[in-house]
Amino acid sequence: MVEKNIITLASSREPRSLKLDRLNQSLIRKLQTSLDLAELLDIFFSEAADWLSIDRMKYSYQGRNTTLARNEKARHSANYGLKLEGQQLGELTIFRSSKLGADELNDFECMLSALIYPLRNAIRYQAALDLAMRDPLTGIANKMAMDGQLQREIALVFRHAEPMSVIMLDLDFFKMVNDTYGHMAGDAVLMQTATIMQEVCRESDFPFRFGGEEFGIILPKTDAEGASIIAERLRLKIESHRFSFNGATIPCTASFGVSAYKPEDTRSDLLSRADRALYKAKQSGRNKVLIDLG
Ligand code: GH3
Ligand code: MG
Ligand code: MG
Repeated sequence: MVEKNIITLASSREPRSLKLDRLNQSLIRKLQTSLDLAELLDIFFSEAADWLSIDRMKYSYQGRNTTLARNEKARHSANYGLKLEGQQLGELTIFRSSKLGADELNDFECMLSALIYPLRNAIRYQAALDLAMRDPLTGIANKMAMDGQLQREIALVFRHAEPMSVIMLDLDFFKMVNDTYGHMAGDAVLMQTATIMQEVCRESDFPFRFGGEEFGIILPKTDAEGASIIAERLRLKIESHRFSFNGATIPCTASFGVSAYKPEDTRSDLLSRADRALYKAKQSGRNKVLIDLG
């Protein structure tokens, strides 16, 4: 019993620096459990907010901002540019309603030193993931990214009972483009097609390269009619575009298949119907948009 009191007494008198050391050890362990940037920031903010009563934290990296808050109104702030071995790791700002003292800033900087390596690893991991999800030639999403996105969209549609559509498109007689102008010219046409798609798409649409000279767009909150209007706009743009490579102008058109989500559809149901419509567009003369209503 007496012993217990002594222990309690000792721990309450433990110097702040020892407590901070222990906090940092536990923070390092927690930060090691994840490579997910959002999760890391969450862990870090939760510990820093507990220790220093921080109200809000903002992390910015390459134009993307993440804000975590317990209390939105806080006037005082401290800002840190994060850098490790020459690599910029973004900027972190903490906010509090009362001013942070020198000791507190010291503590925070100590906690930052626990964050910096896990943060660098999470950024590298995210960059590797981003790279694996992009088509290297055109820079737009690849089939793997599309698979994940379509899965997420189907889950959302299921929950909110909203429409969603898919456009598939295939460049017409593309083999002839390669044969006539060369493979590099073909590559240039693929790149310019991706650019046109990005121009025609809305912010919420998801353009991707399916493979070869096949592309697609996932259109959330869009029914078959809306999707076919966008497909037609894209068809006209491709038809009228002056695809160019090394001074040569390359005429090119594309055929389109559109499908809209129906309850119980799987990813492959939706894609198969768009593909079937595309096949019919090819069979019936190319350079046209057809819808498969299922
Ligand atoms: P269709 O109108 O029926 O679609 O005819 P097509 O010639 O477009 O179709 P086909 O499937 O016969 O040929 C597709 C061509 O696309 C053949 C292939 O070499 C070319 N291709 C696929 N991927 C690439 C690429 O990354 N770069 C280039 N330059 N060509 C590619
Ligand atoms: Mg083709
Ligand atoms: Mg093809």
